Amino acid sequence: MSTYSIVWFRNDLRVHDHKPLTRAVMAGYPVIALYIFDPYEYRDLSYGFKKTGRHRAQFIQESLEDLRTNLAELNVPLVIRYKDPVDAFLELSDYLTINGVYLHEEIATEEQQTERGVRKALPGVPFYVDHGHNLFPPEDLPFSIKDVPDTFSQFRKRIEKIGMMPPQALAPPQTAVKAELPNKLEEGKIRGAAVSGREVQREEARYRGGSTAAKRRLRDYIFTKDRLRIYKETRNGMLLEDDSSKFSPYLANGNLSPRVVYEQIQHYERAYTKNESTYMLYFELLWRDYFHLVHRKYGDRFFYKTGLTGLEIPWKTSDEHLQAWMDGRTGYPLVDAGMRELKQTGFMSNRARQNVASFFTKNLGLDWRIGAAWFESQLVDYDVSSNYGNWLYTAGVGNDAVSFRAFNVEKQAEDYDPDGDYLRCWLPELRELPVPWIFKPREMGMIEQEQYGVHLGEDYPFPIIDLYESMREMKTAFEEASK
Ligand SMILES: Cc1cc2nc3c(=O)[nH]c(=O)nc-3n(C[C@H](O)[C@H](O)[C@H](O)COP(=O)(O)OP(=O)(O)OC[C@H]3O[C@@H](n4cnc5c(N)ncnc54)[C@H](O)[C@@H]3O)c2cc1C
Repeated sequence: MSTYSIVWFRNDLRVHDHKPLTRAVMAGYPVIALYIFDPYEYRDLSYGFKKTGRHRAQFIQESLEDLRTNLAELNVPLVIRYKDPVDAFLELSDYLTINGVYLHEEIATEEQQTERGVRKALPGVPFYVDHGHNLFPPEDLPFSIKDVPDTFSQFRKRIEKIGMMPPQALAPPQTAVKAELPNKLEEGKIRGAAVSGREVQREEARYRGGSTAAKRRLRDYIFTKDRLRIYKETRNGMLLEDDSSKFSPYLANGNLSPRVVYEQIQHYERAYTKNESTYMLYFELLWRDYFHLVHRKYGDRFFYKTGLTGLEIPWKTSDEHLQAWMDGRTGYPLVDAGMRELKQTGFMSNRARQNVASFFTKNLGLDWRIGAAWFESQLVDYDVSSNYGNWLYTAGVGNDAVSFRAFNVEKQAEDYDPDGDYLRCWLPELRELPVPWIFKPREMGMIEQEQYGVHLGEDYPFPIIDLYESMREMKTAFEEASK
């Protein structure tokens, strides 16, 4: 049997700044890339929806199509399997001798368990693991993981005090030794979207997966459209494509290395201007690094109902409220617009995410982990540390939990969507409503309902809970739990 190096791709679907791929090529053996659709990742959850929904599956599928093309240019075939990862590796080892497995480190429990299983199934095969999802490798930080500061601002100050810079992004490797797949070992078709149930039509999908699309977006946003210059002023917008960078789907699936984004910000600053906006985009990338580090520090506690605080909040269960929230039928326009956008496109702005998550935990009082699981299922930019980290933070059970914080979702709509355009975009039944009714349809009397043709309880729901009373109730629950 011939000998090959295997590169195991997971959330790092790119060929640039990919140390495992570079190392595998340099080892001198022919290289085979492997991606496994693990049925566990596509299972039905007890909450009544799939762990990976159709938008994310579609994005992964497109990322793999692009990756296969890019790898082919390096003489590296991409093998795709739909089975338990242990079985996928055992199948390879039936056909070839594995010189070594090269991969990026994953920090979440499930991925680590899977990796342990594969290592056990391949005794004697060396695994070469590199860090590659963040700006800063953890070993370069001026503190150990157990000492990662418990607030973002302390973390940022420690990094900035010593003027830390991320390592340079690696270029794609040289072409590898030509790898012919052993006889009878098939490459395998890419059909990720089909595994998740109903397929997404290309026209329906908001973002195209893959490094080619990622690099195009990076160039367009920063240089062609010159939006980085005003990022600070626009980033809270919920409606327009260029309000924020929309790099997150590419970063989360590893189509784009954060170090490449960092280098482009630097390049822009040198060539054009350095201002608060250019700093702010770097600042947001630091938030991403921070959530990954907090996840490393707290491990599995990231997924506990009591979060990182250990607070025993009496989270409620209500299938009816959960369904209304997921469907965008709560009677609160900002929540409904965000949730419908998420379901229809797999994306939602940061401002809308904060609001719908606050409403879920601080008004409906539902178990935050179910909200996080719905985001996991739907978001094309799902990233375990950023998602669960932000949910912990919004739910008030994160590492920096202070006193009770909640968003007033009606006031937020007025502040961040003053003309109601975002609401009208996602809530067609409210399109005729002018300001101020668009923010509070619940306050319309019979006359207004007739005038605008929106009948509460028929065209648009009555609020499923009282905004203020529910918030007071949750505040009391938090105070009781904190005693
Ligand atoms: C409840 C909740 C869940 C979230 N789940 C995810 C998730 O699964 N994956 C994800 O990438 N982001 C998540 N976020 C963070 C944030 O909403 C998205 O990163 C952002 O909306 C993506 O849009 P953008 O790329 O245009 O962001 P920009 O504003 O352009 O920011 C640039 C990049 O910085 C990073 N970033 C920005 N804000 C955050 C943040 N708060 N936390 C971590 N990274 C950040 C992202 O990688 C983003 O692409 C979540 C936020 C909330 C409130």
